[in-house]
Amino acid sequence: MDSDQSEDYRFETLAVRAGQVRTGEGEHSEPIFPTSSFVFASAAEAAARFSGAVPGNIYSRFTNPTVRTFERRLAALEGGECSVATASGMAAILSTCMGLLKAGDHVVSSRSVFGSTTSLFNTYLQRFGVAVDYVALTDPGAWERALRPATRLLFLETPSNPLTEVADIAALADLAHRHGALLAVDNCFCTPALQRPLALGADLVIHSATKYLDGQGRCMGGAVVGSQELVGKEVFGFLRTAGPSMSPFNAWVFLKGLETLALRMRAHSANALDLARWLEGHPRVHRVHYPGLASHPQHELACRQQSAPGGIVSFEVVGGQAAAWTVVDRTRLVSITANLGDTKTTITHPASTTHARVGAEARAEAGIGDGLLRLSVGLEAVEDLEADLDRGLAALG
Ligand SMILES: *Cc1c(COP(=O)(O)O)cnc(C)c1O
Repeated sequence: MDSDQSEDYRFETLAVRAGQVRTGEGEHSEPIFPTSSFVFASAAEAAARFSGAVPGNIYSRFTNPTVRTFERRLAALEGGECSVATASGMAAILSTCMGLLKAGDHVVSSRSVFGSTTSLFNTYLQRFGVAVDYVALTDPGAWERALRPATRLLFLETPSNPLTEVADIAALADLAHRHGALLAVDNCFCTPALQRPLALGADLVIHSATKYLDGQGRCMGGAVVGSQELVGKEVFGFLRTAGPSMSPFNAWVFLKGLETLALRMRAHSANALDLARWLEGHPRVHRVHYPGLASHPQHELACRQQSAPGGIVSFEVVGGQAAAWTVVDRTRLVSITANLGDTKTTITHPASTTHARVGAEARAEAGIGDGLLRLSVGLEAVEDLEADLDRGLAALG
């Protein structure tokens, strides 16, 4: 199926078919092209490709057929004109910044973004003369007050990590556009199966494909989706020059991941909702953060903006870090690892791992307490997950 015809098909169909161009071999599954360069029929053809007069592959740092199939399929799923694949999620964020920002520009970012994103902004972007200010994800007034004439980019993740706070994408896209800025949404937690930021007005969607797009914890990868002008020209221009490109092997794994994405995201969400309700009723659990619960502060917004609540659940146990660590250490099934978006459920204690470097004061301000635990709910039977978590919770007495 040619991506030009993509608009006529629904999500589930695009997920298994968009972007594939069969070779003369008639293969059914997408082929992997592990080749660094491509050959030309003549000197004249080589010259025409290099000049850009004739489209086609030259070198896999620029384009590769397997990677292109993944890019086209993801673009179709996000409803974007164009997508570029990168070596990791961080390479996608770096390529977006390098492609679209220059010295003197200003960025407004949600405070609750992925830790390496904050490090990239603070340590490296600032070194090249790009200023970054941080605001509370769910406070539209704070975003507006942070804008300056030089603001070029608004950056956020929704739902946030680890508290699953939800931002109003349409409202922030409108705010960005009124001030001549772009809105970039890191859509890692929802994926296009649950949330399509471009349809809500965002200009750029960023992915860590490492998480749910793969969905089985195998490969590193990332992507940026948006217009031909922003992504196809500017972000791709940086990517092909600087080289954080996706490997064709990884692109193939992600293609296979996309084929089951809608099914998996529905199943992750159903399991997470069951587990969140069970946790909410548990006497040793003080609070549960999950957009699918009526108790979530942005529950209604999440219901409007997302087609399901997603697989990430956070909860606070009574008794601080010692109690939280007991719950982690008593598990036998759930994996103690910081990764997320896997078929296997994972558990993380943010205050001592992913958010340790943030500092106690900033954590307290952000609401990340010592008793907080984050789950990436996998596809195991919920009853087994409940029993595993209850080993530690019951021990808290
Ligand atoms: C993991 C993650 C990233 C970074 O992706 P990598 O593939 O690890 O480079 C960015 N944003 C979010 C929300 C993530 O969870």
